[in-house]
Amino acid sequence: MFDHLQAQKPDGILMLMQMYRDDPRDSKVDLGVGVYKDASGNTPIMRAIKTAEEQLWHAETTKTYVGLAGAPDFNDAMVKLVLADAVPRAAVNSVATPGGTGAVRQAFELAKMASPGGRVFVSNPTWPNHVSILDYLGMEKVMYRYFDDETRGVDFDGMIADLKQARKGDLILLHGCCHNPTGANLTDPQWDEVIKVLHDTGATPMIDIAYQGFGDGLDADASGTRKVAAAVPECLIAASCSKNFGIYRERTGILMLVAGGTDKTIAQGTLNFLNRQNYSFPPDHGARLVTMILNDDALRADWQAELEEMRTGMLGLREQLARELEQRSGSNRFGFLAQHRGMFSRLGAAPDAVVKMRDDSGIYMVGDSRMNIAGLNAQTIPVLADAIVKAGV
Ligand code: PMP
Repeated sequence: MFDHLQAQKPDGILMLMQMYRDDPRDSKVDLGVGVYKDASGNTPIMRAIKTAEEQLWHAETTKTYVGLAGAPDFNDAMVKLVLADAVPRAAVNSVATPGGTGAVRQAFELAKMASPGGRVFVSNPTWPNHVSILDYLGMEKVMYRYFDDETRGVDFDGMIADLKQARKGDLILLHGCCHNPTGANLTDPQWDEVIKVLHDTGATPMIDIAYQGFGDGLDADASGTRKVAAAVPECLIAASCSKNFGIYRERTGILMLVAGGTDKTIAQGTLNFLNRQNYSFPPDHGARLVTMILNDDALRADWQAELEEMRTGMLGLREQLARELEQRSGSNRFGFLAQHRGMFSRLGAAPDAVVKMRDDSGIYMVGDSRMNIAGLNAQTIPVLADAIVKAGV
């Protein structure tokens, strides 16, 4: 039976990681893979996670199954972190999932069950896994304009014009903050405009929020998500704890469903059913650590302080890069790098310029010119700035 299998399209980022590893140059700079790195290039375990793990080792008395929806206190703590009081807790159905990817996958499956002919509107560009999961599930997708190649900001007029084509039964996928791969985000008034379109079209929003705390702060980064959730009767929210708790491999995430007038037993029951079909019980270790941190004043304060150091560190790198490019190019055309938020920026370089930077200067960025800003430090920024100008970007 297996001789019918076909080769899968190779993952561009994983291929890039391999090329980076094989490059013997000491001066090489990895801006590819999407994990946070400190100034020494390490992805540290956050202090609060280490402390919580130690406490958990002493306190945990069983590894028996959790409920299908995950631990209730994890769900409560995460709903509060993401939504605050935008929606009454009782109106939010939720399941813990293996990472944000698990939440995205379950959300798409739920939309497919609920609205079989529905289309999914995704930003152009978006996180490639959105597209590949939708294709895998055989769901129809519509790409809406998002990134303006000229300004390297959001093409908001194009976005709104495209979203107006949606109708009831369609899903509109939005990034809550720190858009991956571009770094370009909606302003507060633009979120209001999007809400108007949601009201006019009757389409259902789905928000993927994977970088809360990496952009403008924990609350500011969730403000669009909260606005939408408060304004519409139905929405889906997929949240990841991988980045903001630094627990990538623990696979910790949550899917939230606000289901308007739908019977709560049916809404929550369907989420539980989807978990049961795909993996039964969601992973608990990361979820437990997150719960301990969010519910303990001291752990939470330490976590927030470290997250804030990471966030402001990335902002500092953005500002330095924009400044050094301004000096070298004699123009402020790279000012957008300081405006972007989150871990990524799309530089807007042509594919041959991306290759040239790699070949000539050992700069590894994704083929669409997405750069992981956290892959930089004060010493490598001048190297990157030189390479960008030399490649004629
Ligand atoms: N959504 C977006 C937009 C992402 O960038 C990511 C991580 N790359 C995820 C979801 C999921 O992350 P994870 O499954 O590692 O939690």
